[in-house]
Amino acid sequence: MRIGCVLTDLDGTLLEHGGVLGAEARAAISRLRGLGVPVVPLTSKTETELRALLAELDSGGIGSFENGAGIVTPSGAVVSEKAVPADRLSDRLDELARSAGVPLTPAAALPVAEIRRITGLPEEKVPAMLARGFGLPFLAPEGAGPALEAAARGLSGARLTRGGQFWHLSGEHGKEDAVELLVRSGAAARPFAGLGDAPNDAGFLALCDAAVLLPRAAGGVDPALAAAVPGARVAPFPTGRGWAAALDRLLAEDE
Ligand SMILES: [Mg+2]
Repeated sequence: MRIGCVLTDLDGTLLEHGGVLGAEARAAISRLRGLGVPVVPLTSKTETELRALLAELDSGGIGSFENGAGIVTPSGAVVSEKAVPADRLSDRLDELARSAGVPLTPAAALPVAEIRRITGLPEEKVPAMLARGFGLPFLAPEGAGPALEAAARGLSGARLTRGGQFWHLSGEHGKEDAVELLVRSGAAARPFAGLGDAPNDAGFLALCDAAVLLPRAAGGVDPALAAAVPGARVAPFPTGRGWAAALDRLLAEDE
């Protein structure tokens, strides 16, 4: 199929564990660059992390940070009207802890060694991971999920999500809001091919002209994601190798 733009999640989709770009993904991005197709990451990573990655990808310089809080384009950054600055969110986190009756630990308060153990990041990449403008990652005690989710229903203008071991508190935006910002700013043009591996990718994948789900390393697609994006294709392998193979197949259709 003709692809105007590739919208992609990063962790567990394009990148290997530890945030590394593998050889197959690198080759596929290079092929897309030759075809003039930008690769646009839609990530929960920070703007600092996104900008470092965009420089490495060299594939159009367009992307979205912090789960749709904003976008970066060659002509500047645009912040979503739904994004809430992190300093206002820390008050909301205290409110959430009180109302759920559980202690909550912001990622910024954790020792660097603990963050590295959870994320697999090298030490030099931890400060960029913590430089959040519009969200607060935090840890909650084992089993606190139901109390947290119940307490979060009483918070207005804030959204609670879970990504791996970290919980996140942010404004009420998701990666799907980035698609609207990209289209409105003229930074990305359809048809969109979209690739993701987790339930927080479902919103943007549903807006794509072709959606591809990446299986998890342990095998099989996340069941909540598969249910939320019916009719999506499934990549033949996890992470960058599957990403590259799925794009090869899409590009080969009606060539
Ligand atoms: Mg992911």
